[in-house]
Amino acid sequence: MKTINRRKFVKDSLATVAITAPFIMQPSSLFAAETSANVALDFSQVKLPYAYSALEPSIDAMTMEIHYTKHHAAYIKNVNEAIAADKITFATEKEFFANTSKLSTKARNNGGGAWNHNFFWQVMKPGAGTPTGKVADAIAGSFGSFDKFKEQFTQAAMTRFGSGWAWLVKEGSALKIGSTPNQDNPMMDVSDFKGTPLLALDVWEHAYYLKYQNKRNDYVANWWNIVNWDEVAKKI
Ligand code: MN
Repeated sequence: MKTINRRKFVKDSLATVAITAPFIMQPSSLFAAETSANVALDFSQVKLPYAYSALEPSIDAMTMEIHYTKHHAAYIKNVNEAIAADKITFATEKEFFANTSKLSTKARNNGGGAWNHNFFWQVMKPGAGTPTGKVADAIAGSFGSFDKFKEQFTQAAMTRFGSGWAWLVKEGSALKIGSTPNQDNPMMDVSDFKGTPLLALDVWEHAYYLKYQNKRNDYVANWWNIVNWDEVAKKI
């Protein structure tokens, strides 16, 4: 097998793995012999696990398509450019975010944008129900009830001024709700709000403006109909 084909095969294989397990680190050793040594980490865009129209009427198809093919694709392209230009050598996404304070603004913003959206696509699906089993138990244990959890999460999403994200995270055995500005996330050392992400909601206007205009509250209310609780259960 020629080098170029083997390299393409490795890349394609990793892309396939990323569809089902987007947070698996791409092992730099696979590329070490064939790429310049300073490209240690390579963000890739997960395949959308449903059609652009699948989340309607909560999120319209045009918003999904623009969000995925323009906004998210740009974050991926730009973070990989920054990794190369800045000669970033962190081998894993975890390490990258744990050292955000040492990154350029371009690497920080686009790295967050790359990861956060890969996460966001996975925690949605058509036709959500309500959490059951260990997710329901953990939510009741930390917030009292599912309704109280929804109220607190909605509050976090509504009070994030400007662009950012609302999060449900795990810290130890407790669950916490908070938000981050811009494309920051709770894995970043610079974040005031930290933890292991379980659920995220993009509250940038690009995520809802075509359908909802200024009515972020309607977007958030309808988003509860498309939360993928099975995916949350895998992370808890
Ligand atoms: Mn977004």
